Amino acid sequence: MAADATAMEEKLALLRAQYAIKIGERIDELDEAIVQSAETEGEARRGVLSNLRDMSHKLAGSGATFGFPEVSLHARTMEQECVAILEERITDDGQLTQRLQGLSSKLREASQTQQADTNVQSPRPAAPHLHDTSRMKVLVIMEYDDEQADQVVREMEHFGLEARIIDHPAKLIGDVKQNGPVNVIVTGLDFGGDPRAASKALEVFRETEAHRTIPVVVHTYLDDIESRLDAVRVGAKAYLVKPVDMADLVDVLDHITERHEDEPFRVLIVDDDESLARYTEHVLQGAGMDTEVVTSPLTLFEVLDDFSPELILLDLYMPECDGQELAAIVRQREEYAGIPIVFLSGESNKDKQLSAMELGGDDFLTKPIRASHLITSVRIRASRFRKLRSFMVRDSMTGLFNHTTSKQLLENEVARATRANGILSVAAMDIDHFKNVNDTYGHAVGDRVIKALARLLRQRLRSADIIGRMGGEEFAAILPDTGVQEAGRVFDEVRQAFSEIVFHTDGTTFSVTLSCGVAAFPDHGNATALSDAADKALYEAKNGGRNQVILAD
Ligand code: GH3
Ligand code: MG
Ligand code: MG
Repeated sequence: MAADATAMEEKLALLRAQYAIKIGERIDELDEAIVQSAETEGEARRGVLSNLRDMSHKLAGSGATFGFPEVSLHARTMEQECVAILEERITDDGQLTQRLQGLSSKLREASQTQQADTNVQSPRPAAPHLHDTSRMKVLVIMEYDDEQADQVVREMEHFGLEARIIDHPAKLIGDVKQNGPVNVIVTGLDFGGDPRAASKALEVFRETEAHRTIPVVVHTYLDDIESRLDAVRVGAKAYLVKPVDMADLVDVLDHITERHEDEPFRVLIVDDDESLARYTEHVLQGAGMDTEVVTSPLTLFEVLDDFSPELILLDLYMPECDGQELAAIVRQREEYAGIPIVFLSGESNKDKQLSAMELGGDDFLTKPIRASHLITSVRIRASRFRKLRSFMVRDSMTGLFNHTTSKQLLENEVARATRANGILSVAAMDIDHFKNVNDTYGHAVGDRVIKALARLLRQRLRSADIIGRMGGEEFAAILPDTGVQEAGRVFDEVRQAFSEIVFHTDGTTFSVTLSCGVAAFPDHGNATALSDAADKALYEAKNGGRNQVILAD
């Protein structure tokens, strides 16, 4: 591992040194274009400025990649200047050339001073498991006779929340001042004393800035109309009557704080003209989307499988093979039969546009297109596709990937790791004695347990990890870039957290455990071998007494 890291650093240092040499040439080119832009007019000038925009765009990206943040910053400013002029958001006040030249000399300065610094920035490591800094912060205001503050904090922590406790709303402001802001407040209603104390106590939400910005959820044993009215009057977002499973409470908190931030749409741009492709990319990235550019149509398939786009933007006329043909080829692949394909072309002849669509296009956008139109068209189609596909790939009860999809994703991840000489781990999990849960508390309660584990996994694993429900009470997870030891630690924490969740039903409480087997690639060299090894380890965990994680050898 250490040797690998050193090799990686050396390689990076080399790349960086090569880049540092090239920067000078790039800046010369920028200077030349700036002079040209001052000497030309009309369309010719637009051409020069587009070119300058693309060059500075590339420099901004590469500068950041190779550890020249200042270079990147000035290049980005230059790019924005060009875009503003090109999109006619500003008119040239006659100072543009001067501003561009000023930026260029700052760029040169930054590139030279930073060359002296030979420190190589390591690549950003994948986010470590279980150390998510963006954890939701919850302030819990306990009811007076509740004695389980520690329990609440611990249970919330299992779901990745950071909780702290106070025992009366009057302490709210002091607490926030001392311990910093929170994302959500969960409050009881009964703080002892006179029966109407609750409404008085909650007044504090109305009096402070806090309640306007921090959502409040009421969590109480009181279930009368007055109490509910009090809650409504202080603007509570939800009213939950105890006992509530922590998993359900967390679900409500998630919803209210909208932590289900949508992943950016993934758009594949196919255009033989690199600068046009980069421009489209720039527009879509500006709207928060993820993009990949393919300039040589024949490499399309590699990128398709790696990037799994949710929409393809296709240029119509390309030298190696044209957009219509490419659309037809994409449609031949079963897994891409439904992906939206949008032609983006200068072709304005309606007949030609229609015939292009016959072979598998969904829409035709004519260049030049307003940035806002492009963004809207792409967003509408990509989001419909995502929704439709989610019905086919997800398990409806838990929202996790279903069996078929999980298997397919494992194949993809193994193929990716093979190409990149990478590692990954796979876990197979199964709830212990689940039949007993069903038999004792009923099927509906069993379902709640399954959902709780699904939520726990979602909250405990990283967004890059893949979680599937393989059927019944069996789950699987794929952890890219993760070795078997680290995965073992992660799942042991999941196992521990799951065992500490308290389920409430009919006045009693119970807890459940799970068993888990973990195997890693490349110790097990293909998808089938990996799942078999994880299953075998799971079987050992069951035989060894359950409630444990076993690593495959
Ligand atoms: P072990 O510790 O060996 O895994 O024992 P177990 O009882 O968990 O294993 P077994 O495979 O015998 O039982 C699994 C049970 O899960 C049987 C089935 O009725 C139940 N089950 C499967 N799918 C669901 C579901 O969606 N909801 C509920 N509530 N129960 C389910
Ligand atoms: Mg089972
Ligand atoms: Mg089981």
